[in-house]
Amino acid sequence: MTAALLMPAAPAISKPAALPDVQMRVTPTRIRVEGLSKRFVTRRADVQALDNVSLEIEQGEFVCLIGPSGCGKSTLLDIIAGLTKPDSGTVESDGKAVTAPAPDRMVMFQEPALFPWLDALGNVMFGLKLKPGLTKNDRLDIAHRYLKMVGLGGFEHSYIHELSGGMKQRVALARSLAPDPKVLLMDEPFAALDAITREQLYDDLQMIWAQTRKTIVFVTHNVREATCLADRVVLMSPRPGRIAQEFDIPLPRPRDINGAELSRYAGEMARSLKTVTDRSRQ
Ligand code: ADP
Ligand code: MG
Repeated sequence: MTAALLMPAAPAISKPAALPDVQMRVTPTRIRVEGLSKRFVTRRADVQALDNVSLEIEQGEFVCLIGPSGCGKSTLLDIIAGLTKPDSGTVESDGKAVTAPAPDRMVMFQEPALFPWLDALGNVMFGLKLKPGLTKNDRLDIAHRYLKMVGLGGFEHSYIHELSGGMKQRVALARSLAPDPKVLLMDEPFAALDAITREQLYDDLQMIWAQTRKTIVFVTHNVREATCLADRVVLMSPRPGRIAQEFDIPLPRPRDINGAELSRYAGEMARSLKTVTDRSRQ
């Protein structure tokens, strides 16, 4: 099998002469990353975490960043979030330069980082303080709506220590979604969860993405996860961190992580990932 499986060549389309010209529908770019470089120098190491990385992400697109540990996935996500400054290069969100975190780009990490002294509802409402002009009742309504969306209807008044790992990540997801950001940036959000919980979250995240059409950038090192979720997978290689390859995933949705066709795609991608990983060890 070759990379052709993952990136089928575009079929040659010849326009029938009798048909009138049809305006091409172009999806606007949501995130534009251009020439990003970032080097970390410490007493112990000197690492080129990103080297001239460019990437465009369309409005409503689901992009997974994948690659071996240390290839710069989190650094790239943090720069898009505005949490880390690049040495050179630019990031634009909706045509505006990204210089700091903003509520149009919400971030979700592996650890849910919830407030233990607030219940689930309180945690989601807290995130809504970022949005100006909302009354307390507005915040209550919105928080209820998003907790229901992530499958936590009935758990609004549970404290964080009363929730399982998967439920905590659901609260974190509701908290990220509630301010209605344009972009959701997710850094290995399900990596610490058990396999069964993760599989439920794949189904739910696909459903939520279909409902909300957020632009999602999702970091993972799990090829099946990437194949299950992404429209496009961006494979990165380490030292220096660069984009090595991109794969379109044209599988129908919703996708079953255990589906046969998905396994074929994931297998192909795993081989590319192994090549990148082996090369970085040489
Ligand atoms: P990934 O998320 O793909 O595992 P990271 O983006 O976290 O990779 O890191 C890329 C490289 O940059 C790694 O070698 C890491 O050690 C280094 N790095 C990341 N953040 C820092 C930091 N704050 N200080 C020093 N080195 C860092
Ligand atoms: Mg990381």
